[in-house]
Amino acid sequence: MRIEEELKLDFQDVLIRPKRSTLTSRSDVDISREFVFRHSGRDYRGVPIIAANMDTVGTFEMARALGHHRLATALHKHYDEAELAAFFRTLSQTATVFYSMGITREDYDKFRRVKDAVGDAIAHVCVDVANGYTKAFIDFLHKLRVAYPHITLMAGNVVTGEMAEELILDGADIVKVGIGPGSVCTTRKMTGVGYPQLSAIIECADAAHGLGGLICADGGCTSAGDLAKAFGGGADFVMLGGMLAGHDECMGEVIERNGERRMRFYGMSSRAAMDKHAGGVANYRASEGKEVLLDCRGPVDATVQEILGGVRSACTYVGAHRLRELSKRTTFIRVARQLNEVFGQS
Ligand code: 5GP
Repeated sequence: MRIEEELKLDFQDVLIRPKRSTLTSRSDVDISREFVFRHSGRDYRGVPIIAANMDTVGTFEMARALGHHRLATALHKHYDEAELAAFFRTLSQTATVFYSMGITREDYDKFRRVKDAVGDAIAHVCVDVANGYTKAFIDFLHKLRVAYPHITLMAGNVVTGEMAEELILDGADIVKVGIGPGSVCTTRKMTGVGYPQLSAIIECADAAHGLGGLICADGGCTSAGDLAKAFGGGADFVMLGGMLAGHDECMGEVIERNGERRMRFYGMSSRAAMDKHAGGVANYRASEGKEVLLDCRGPVDATVQEILGGVRSACTYVGAHRLRELSKRTTFIRVARQLNEVFGQS
């Protein structure tokens, strides 16, 4: 047993220190990014925010709505082949959509068939497992990279620098970072395993950037300010589940009680998800996600505007003309309290 004494930070442990700025308006800030991916060699230009590949967030409808704002979507894994092929065939060239898969033989075979059917329309793939530290995961990533050299691969999830490096060397263009911070995740409670998300981002970004790779901060953002902190800490992309849940585009099950409409939202390893997709929780595993009922929030457009407005504003506070400059201009200050909640939490 060993104890690491160095302090690790979460979003709520810090604020971003304001800096002198020549910017006069939020509208002067460019929050899109341009990248050339290390392995695929492909160009990317867009707003580097990705809807999570969860049942009610990574939907076709979400991908279309976010595409209008040049945000990306990682589709959930439970569409069938015909639906996926039809969707990718009609996808506009400018939208960034990740095909998602796990690491089973069936996942790989299904991907091959859909890819064969639609060709270059699938340019981005997200391979994710709850625990990106296994040999089986690394072997799968390696195999996929060899078979598809020109696909942009996002892979995870991990939380430490040495593993971020390993995934990049094994073929990932983007390393997905986060174990346990998610809004409907119970991994930390069920297993005691995890890593404070801001420190995970800072450490993984540093490691990945050293090798010309990128990272996606996945999970734990509860407000636009958290996205600003993730980008400030070095995240190239940020993935959102809960912040995009409950909207019309989620196509989630709506439950009406006492005249109030609420939408089901659940973790992908929750009992709800396993009941739906795997015929129940297998007896050797515990569920590591939970289910919540959210107020229905209408079209996602307004939420996107709010998030982008918050990130733009963060840039103006530190004098970053572009999102690209935000991390260079970020100094975090550790705080004991950040919000005045006298009138509640919203
Ligand atoms: P959020 O933005 O809601 O805080 O976090 C979204 C992320 O939580 C997802 O992208 C995924 O990495 C993670 N996640 C989703 N469902 C589950 C689950 O059931 N268990 C765990 N441990 N993580 C989950």
